[in-house]
Amino acid sequence: MAYVVTQSCCSDASCVVACPVNCIHPAPGEPGFAEAEMVFIDAGTCVGCGACVTACPVGAIVPDTRLREDQRPFVDLAAEYYDVFPHRDRTPVALVPRQRRLRRPGPFRVAVVGAGPAGLYAADELLRHPEVEVEVFERLDVPHGLARFGVAADHVETRRVARLFDQITAQPGLRLHLGVEVGRDVTHEELETRFDAVVHATGAPADRRLGVPGDQLPGVLGATALAEWSNAHPARRDLALQVAPAAGGRAVVVGAGNVALDAARLLVGPLVGAREVLVLGRRGVDAAAFTTPELVGLAGLADASRPDPVDVVLEAGPAPGDGVRARLLAELATRTPVPGRPRVVLRFDAPVAEVTGDDRACGVRLVDGSLLEADLVVGAIGQDWAPVVHDRGRVRPGVYVTGWAKRGPSGFLGTNKSCAQKTVAALLDDLDAGPGPALPVPAGPPRRVRALLTGRSPR
Ligand code: NAP
Repeated sequence: MAYVVTQSCCSDASCVVACPVNCIHPAPGEPGFAEAEMVFIDAGTCVGCGACVTACPVGAIVPDTRLREDQRPFVDLAAEYYDVFPHRDRTPVALVPRQRRLRRPGPFRVAVVGAGPAGLYAADELLRHPEVEVEVFERLDVPHGLARFGVAADHVETRRVARLFDQITAQPGLRLHLGVEVGRDVTHEELETRFDAVVHATGAPADRRLGVPGDQLPGVLGATALAEWSNAHPARRDLALQVAPAAGGRAVVVGAGNVALDAARLLVGPLVGAREVLVLGRRGVDAAAFTTPELVGLAGLADASRPDPVDVVLEAGPAPGDGVRARLLAELATRTPVPGRPRVVLRFDAPVAEVTGDDRACGVRLVDGSLLEADLVVGAIGQDWAPVVHDRGRVRPGVYVTGWAKRGPSGFLGTNKSCAQKTVAALLDDLDAGPGPALPVPAGPPRRVRALLTGRSPR
């Protein structure tokens, strides 16, 4: 028996470190790590010990004997990877990186702004050092950020990552301030003068607007806002009215990334109940930004053994190539929808020129002039993001950035772990270098921060 990594892989590489026979790749330090869509278990070398299953924070690893039919393409994806990267020279030991130790005794206090995956992975890295205490500031009343509000509700396994984040926040060296917004309840400067270092992990602020006439009409939503609404984000309650007309109707999703597929599954699922969801890619199918694991997941919606199967159809010629992805796309292009079933239609070479409607969106007009009626228009074209100038996460000594705020809105949950490791390495270098003209010495004891907040944020 061998194990197989499935679609909810978060790429944080915990499994790689746990594996005693080094059969999971790409591993940290190998080409492709952090850019690969997932990690792969080499079926020929896996000894079936299950150490990776225990380590995986999102329950993505299953024995090949227990794969569902719609998960079978993951066996082929792994085989395809090892055909190209055979990894014959494996060292048969777990890859346990040597733990760095600080040269200066501390104690050091670090403020982390944002309790999403980026901030909590950074806190976890910092807390490997007993000399470091961490205070995390989160503007919402609950932690976990995108892992709570951005992960699709039907990605049940991925949502198990909450357990990992709960373990991180339960560590004795961490103090979590919920309902505290930096910039409103406390200023960045106040943090900077009270902590040895401040790490900003505030993500990317908002869905990018479509940038075409009509994109501000009611009935036009961003995909992240839609996901947040579906996950009961306190600031999104009023979206229910905007989403309601899509029930039993048609929604258009603009964009062809993983977020677009998340939105399509959500819209056609039980929470919204759209009859048809049209996903529009502005370029050809071969340029689609969604990953193969997510395409496998979408295609599996049509599985007739599911309680509510959904047809998934590709309105395009197949993408070139002969790998798992090309074969899957070719198969989707030949599917015939079952009358009466809800469906997701993938259409490419379909750039949008305008959202149509007077006081509410009623469709989109494509650049080729064709009109598509819709009860809801969802933009899934990425996030607004202002790049921050940094060097390995260091904005300047004492101030750091990690996660989407650092590298832009890309990557999987676990990508934030390797991102945080790099930022924390730069921070530790500065702590080791000691105070100087650049690295400020914090003023006052920790209780000063609490006193500061008590006076300002009643929550
Ligand atoms: P993305 O992968 O960058 O995809 C954005 C899509 O929007 C692309 O198809 C892009 O087309 C299109 N687009 C951009 N500007 C456009 C415009 N003006 N008009 C029309 N289309 C436009 O971004 P994302 O889907 O928001 O995902 C962000 C990151 O989160 C990705 O790394 C993704 O993998 C990750 N994520 C992962 C999961 C998962 O693993 N389950 C789930 C959600 C998100 P072009 O290619 O033509 O620019």
